[in-house]
Amino acid sequence: MGYKTLVKVLLLISVLNLVPSLKAAEIRNGKLYIEVLIETAKYITLQPEPETVSETSINIYETDLPVCRKMTGNLDIELANTDKQSCWGILLRNEPWNDDSRGILQESFEWSDNYLMLRQENLIYADTTFVSREVALAYAREHNIPDNMVQYIPIVGSIVKITTSKKEKYYLETPLRIQSNLPLIINHHRETYSGEFYLKEIDNKLVLTQLIYLEDYVAGVIPYEIGSNAPIEALKAQAVTARTHSIALLTFNRHKNDGYDLCNSTHCQVYKGKYLINPNIQSAVDSTSDQILTINGKLADTPYHSNCGGHTDAAHQIWNSQPLPHLLGVPCVEGVDSLDLTQEKQARQWIDKNTIDPLMSSWEKAGMSWSHTISRKKLANNLGMNDIDKIVINQRSVSGRIIDMSFYGSKRVQIIGEAKIREIFGALRSSFFYIDGKYNSNRNGKVEIIPDRTLSLKGKGYGHGVGMCQSGALRMAREGKSYWNILSLYYPGTQITTNWMSDEGK
Ligand SMILES: [Zn+2]
Ligand SMILES: [Zn+2]
Repeated sequence: MGYKTLVKVLLLISVLNLVPSLKAAEIRNGKLYIEVLIETAKYITLQPEPETVSETSINIYETDLPVCRKMTGNLDIELANTDKQSCWGILLRNEPWNDDSRGILQESFEWSDNYLMLRQENLIYADTTFVSREVALAYAREHNIPDNMVQYIPIVGSIVKITTSKKEKYYLETPLRIQSNLPLIINHHRETYSGEFYLKEIDNKLVLTQLIYLEDYVAGVIPYEIGSNAPIEALKAQAVTARTHSIALLTFNRHKNDGYDLCNSTHCQVYKGKYLINPNIQSAVDSTSDQILTINGKLADTPYHSNCGGHTDAAHQIWNSQPLPHLLGVPCVEGVDSLDLTQEKQARQWIDKNTIDPLMSSWEKAGMSWSHTISRKKLANNLGMNDIDKIVINQRSVSGRIIDMSFYGSKRVQIIGEAKIREIFGALRSSFFYIDGKYNSNRNGKVEIIPDRTLSLKGKGYGHGVGMCQSGALRMAREGKSYWNILSLYYPGTQITTNWMSDEGK
C-alpha cells in the first residue's frame, strides 16, 4: 500500500480513543502562559520545602473532572501500567482546527505581520498504529513515507500511582493538573517551583511541565552572573533580549510534538525556576514588561553572549545563516573601529592591547583577556591525527573569531565553525585568539603556522560574539547609558514593541 492509498484510508484520531494533549500555551486575560519542561523521568517526587511543609498543599485534578484531590507531604509518582505499549502513528496531514474538530489539537506559534499568533491544527493520522518508533519507521520506509511523518501519539488515560508520605496510594488518570501554593522540590534537585504544573505520560515516561506566565519565565532565564549588583539599565537590556529570544524560541516550535513549548536546558534556554531571581532582575523585568525588539514588523531575534572581545560578530558568519540586518557586528570597545580584525596582524595587535577596566568584575576580566596552552600531541589527538606539521587559518570573522582552519600532518583536517574550534583546542572561551610565535602568509594569502611542541594561545572574548555583549552592556550602563542606548547599539535598526499579541489570542 503506497502513501497515496494510505491517505485514502485516513481516520480521525478520535476513533482510536485518544485525546488532544499537545495543547501547550494558554492565554488568560491577554497574558501568555507557556508550558516549560521541568522534568522527564520514570519516577517523579514532589516535595514541599522542609520549613514550609505544614503549609504546603498540593491540589491534583484529572482532566475534565472538576474534583480536586488535596495532598500534603512528599508525593512519589510513578506509572502504574508500565507494561502499556506506546502508540506511534503516521501523520497524514494537519488541518486548521475548528469547532467540529475532534482529533488531536496541536498548537504552534508563528510570527506574522507584527504579531505572535497561536496556530491551532487538527492532526490526522493513518488508522494503522505501531508499538514502537522502530516498527513505525520500518513501515514508513517500506511505503515511501518520510521519516518525519512518524510521530508519537499521546494517549489519554495512562494511570499513575501517587504514594504520599503516609503511604496512602492514589491511582489517577493522566494528564494531571497540579497546583501548589508554595515551592516544591522536584526529584531532590536544588531548584524549587510553585504554581501550576502538568503531569503527562509520553512514551512510557512521566513528563512534568510548568505552566508559567511569560514574564515570570523571562525573569527565570536571565543569566545569574549579570544579575548580582549589575546596574539596572544593563539588566533592563538583558530583560528585553531574554524576552525577545524567548518569543523567537516559541516561534521555532522545536517541541510541538513533545507536549510542551520550551525545554529547560541549553537546547532552548536554561530555566531553573525562581531561585536565581534577585530583586534587581525582578525590577528590570517589571519595568520593561512586554517589551520585545522587532525590525520592519518582523521579530528581531536577540542572541547575546558574555564578551565579544572588542567587536561583535555577524550571525551569518558564525552560524552560516542568512545575513540579518541587525546582527552584522558592531564595534563595542573604544579603539577597535580603526582595525580590520579579519586580518591576522590587526587581530594580534588588538588581542595584545590592554582593554581591562578596573570596574570590571572577575567574569568580565576573564572574558577580556585570556591565555591557554595545549600540547601539539593533545591537539593532534583531539583532531584524530598522529601529529601536526602545519596549521592554516582560512578565515577570521568580523569580530576576529577564527571560523575556518585546517591542520596538516599525515592527513588534512579542516575545522569549520567557532564552537568546534573552541572544542578542538580544549573548551576555549572564544575562537578569537592567535597562536603565539611566527606566522607566514601562504600562496593564497592565508596565515600559516608551524606549531611547536606546545602551543600558546592568547585571546579575547567569551562566547559566540553575536548580538549583545553583556560586558559591553555593563560598561555602557556604568557610563550612564540607558537600556535603549545599549539595545540600539547591539541590535541596530530594531525598535521596541509592546503590542505584539494577536487580537485572536486576546
Ligand atoms: Zn528545547
Ligand atoms: Zn563587547
